[in-house]
Amino acid sequence: MNPKEIHPHQHTVTLQDRSTIKGHLPLVVWMTGLSGSGKSTIANALEYQLVNTYRSHTYLLDGDNIRSGLNAGLGFSEKDRRENIRRIGEVAKLMYNAGLIVITAFISPFKSDRESVRALLPTDAFWEIFVSCPIEMCMQRDPKGLYRKAINGGISEFTGITSPYEPPDMPELQVETDKYSVDECVDMIIALMIEKNIITKVE
Ligand code: ADP
Repeated sequence: MNPKEIHPHQHTVTLQDRSTIKGHLPLVVWMTGLSGSGKSTIANALEYQLVNTYRSHTYLLDGDNIRSGLNAGLGFSEKDRRENIRRIGEVAKLMYNAGLIVITAFISPFKSDRESVRALLPTDAFWEIFVSCPIEMCMQRDPKGLYRKAINGGISEFTGITSPYEPPDMPELQVETDKYSVDECVDMIIALMIEKNIITKVE
């Protein structure tokens, strides 16, 4: 079909309606950082808190549910990494429009890709959370043995080793996982969510 023949239909149910039912604002919480910096660990703990303490409606997008399905055909070349992030951004946008608090945990090494996702969403709806940790410590942690493999030449274009990581200039928040515990990092994100009225404090 000619793309010109695609006419968007005005949805009757608005984002405001969805948000009112859910009792919180929608948001995309985008974790970026080196492999082993702690994105998945913090994303998981954050989602647990949001669901159990704040009764929020969330979804966590990560390598497990994206690389094995929607993006199964993509590799790790610069072009494929960009397409990977572009698609994740589009999925995050749909979930945002469904009224969810979407948490993503991907290295997302390129600034321009992250900015493209930001541009898909309304101002203030995209939070870039820089999960930071010196590469030496990430290499020590090496939770999946990937650094060891990359150094031995078993993985080409590995972020931080043979492929660049571009840190954010002005993230909404930076959590330093070499200085603070998982719980402290999660508390910082939750505190900002309360301050910005995304969720409300439970008494
Ligand atoms: P990523 O998703 O960024 O690749 P992971 O969350 O898979 O990283 O792995 C991070 C590792 O570091 C885990 O084994 C986690 O237990 C450990 N870790 C130690 N301290 C922290 C911290 N403060 N925040 C997050 N992870 C931490």
